[in-house]
Amino acid sequence: MSEFSQIEWTDSTWNPTTGCTRVSSGCDHCYALSLAHGRLSEIYSRKLPVINTEINQLDPFAVRLWPERLKDPRRWQSPRMIFVNSMSDLFHVDVPEPFVREIFQVMLAVDRHIYQVLTKRPSRMRRFVERNGDLFPDGEVPGHIWMGTSVESQDVVYRVRHLTLVPAATRFLSCEPLLGPLDLDLHGLHWVIGGGESGIGYRPCEPQWAQSLRDQCVASDVPFFWKQWGGRTPKAKGRMLDGRTWDEMPARIPEVV
Ligand code: SF4
Repeated sequence: MSEFSQIEWTDSTWNPTTGCTRVSSGCDHCYALSLAHGRLSEIYSRKLPVINTEINQLDPFAVRLWPERLKDPRRWQSPRMIFVNSMSDLFHVDVPEPFVREIFQVMLAVDRHIYQVLTKRPSRMRRFVERNGDLFPDGEVPGHIWMGTSVESQDVVYRVRHLTLVPAATRFLSCEPLLGPLDLDLHGLHWVIGGGESGIGYRPCEPQWAQSLRDQCVASDVPFFWKQWGGRTPKAKGRMLDGRTWDEMPARIPEVV
């Protein structure tokens, strides 16, 4: 699936891979899994082989590669922000390293866009960048490819450490769904997104968790984006935090868009 996105902090999604497996409590209500088992199930389960031959080949959320989608960023003429793999995790163990390389080669070549690469597996992200240094002759991932990790609770705050070891000009956190209070070291980070969970069975977000996250960003001079409070629907409780919206973005964005 590659299309314009309803997500507040991006313009488009680009899914050269689909499928994933659960890794932490932030995955409990994974919308990609719901979509894959819902309206996209027929497309996902019938079209392409599953990479891992030891799992159910009909599972619509098994990892699959979509090489024809590698052309999409070239087709999109106007510069835009692209969320890479909203329906997957680029650094899932089943995504072969050569294919991750191909995706980075596209992002590096088509540099009129901003790419937002978000993973719950930042240790592999770090290892990938280390092992493929030839792709990054300046010694770091360039500023139009934003490298991010999800931190939904203090249990997974170790991901921040992996991310900050990724040599990249722009590193970001997605604290969504925010499931508890966070105590973060924001040194070396350039953007933080936060938001509550939405959908049936959503886990409510306490105001003080969001306020604390915002306050830590302000104290560390890190741009903060509060996406939504969540609830039965994504917009059920709006996105005002202490009487205003928080739409800050990394400083580099005006140079590109
Ligand atoms: S890592 Fe992301 S895509 Fe994968 S199961 Fe968890 S929430 Fe879903």
